[in-house]
Amino acid sequence: MVYDVVIVGGGPAGCATALALKRFDPTRSFLLIDDADQIYSSFLAPALSDRLSQDTSIGNHTRCTGNASAWGSRQLQEQYSIMNPYGSGLHLDRALFDQSLRDACCETNSDCVPSRMIRERFISVEKQDGTWSVHTEHLDTRTSNCHRSKWVVDATGRKQSSHGSFRVKLGAKVLKKDNLLAFYSLFVSSEDDNDHRTLTEATESGWWYTSQLAHNKRIVVYHTDDDDASAKVARKPDGFLDLLHNHTVHISQIILERNYSLPPGAKFPHCTAAGSSILEPICNEVERWCAVGDAAMAFDPLSSQGIITALNAGCFIGEELTKRIAVESDGTGTTDGICSIADYFDAAGQRYETQKKYYYRHARFDGEFWAKRRL
Ligand SMILES: Cc1cc2nc3c(=O)[nH]c(=O)nc-3n(C[C@H](O)[C@H](O)[C@H](O)COP(=O)(O)OP(=O)(O)OC[C@H]3O[C@@H](n4cnc5c(N)ncnc54)[C@H](O)[C@@H]3O)c2cc1C
Repeated sequence: MVYDVVIVGGGPAGCATALALKRFDPTRSFLLIDDADQIYSSFLAPALSDRLSQDTSIGNHTRCTGNASAWGSRQLQEQYSIMNPYGSGLHLDRALFDQSLRDACCETNSDCVPSRMIRERFISVEKQDGTWSVHTEHLDTRTSNCHRSKWVVDATGRKQSSHGSFRVKLGAKVLKKDNLLAFYSLFVSSEDDNDHRTLTEATESGWWYTSQLAHNKRIVVYHTDDDDASAKVARKPDGFLDLLHNHTVHISQIILERNYSLPPGAKFPHCTAAGSSILEPICNEVERWCAVGDAAMAFDPLSSQGIITALNAGCFIGEELTKRIAVESDGTGTTDGICSIADYFDAAGQRYETQKKYYYRHARFDGEFWAKRRL
């Protein structure tokens, strides 16, 4: 069969695209392909917010009681959730949250439309006679499959797969704005920790944050550029701990006072890319492909906007694709209400750049790490 849309990547962006397609035109078919390990916005799927509340009530996600930051000065500036009209945020168990989204995509499928989600890995993509052929590999059996569609959506996130990334195979280029890295480690403690804030701290060569996670764990993350001398040091457990205790004041204090330590036997810290990037182009309407989420535009984690931006963009892309497919396939739609995908991402990119400069300009350090983000 030929699906209306094949979406590769079942993170927030891919799931929101699938759910929006379903919501705006339930007659359209999609195939959602994701290779994440299997584990155990209510606008898109009402069951989602119940599932989120349920998972929070049993302690799998935890409430965030506010944000504290030592950014423009050494002292902590606090913003309490009780003062926020939206209430408290959540420290998510990301694997569980993403699985909830994927479950919602499967739950909303009607019997007559053959939309589905499969656990396969994207390998390659090509166009034959105006139809996309997406080649995948089954995660367990390693058998190859081919799925055909009118449109393809790259929602594979920021990482390049070992087979080369989907977006590059579509002919697009990733333009990196910087080379920010995130070094992160989990810490464990047997003592009670009642601090449920997110704490951010600027230092000479980068910035740190920590949040308490479910099940007595705390995550500590250090962000710096790949060519900063501290990046080499942060790769090793001792170096990471030295930087943590010598460069931070408040985060170090939390770790020491509550007797946190690295989990025995675990290999921390891990390192992941965390820089800003944009895909050029983000979509090609003639060829019928587009990217969404981090695959289209990846943000600095300082923004804390990655998930919400991925969900919003997925809603937008899902709705826009239903309009285009209606016009292209059966002439039921009208081109009047069609919005430009490129303009949507341009506006999102400009908002992000303005805010990013604002926050980096207000940090109290002037070293190279900070100076290059203020240009
Ligand atoms: C250090 C760090 C901290 C962050 N902190 C925050 C935060 O506090 N708040 C926030 O909102 N955002 C945060 N973000 C950003 C946020 O994680 C991303 O913006 C968000 O996950 C983007 O969603 P996505 O669906 O585009 O991509 P992803 O979440 O990366 O999902 C991509 C999906 O595609 C699948 N996939 C990839 N390749 C293939 C393939 N070849 N075949 C099949 N499937 C594939 C993956 O398994 C995955 O399920 C942070 C990012 C970093 C790096």
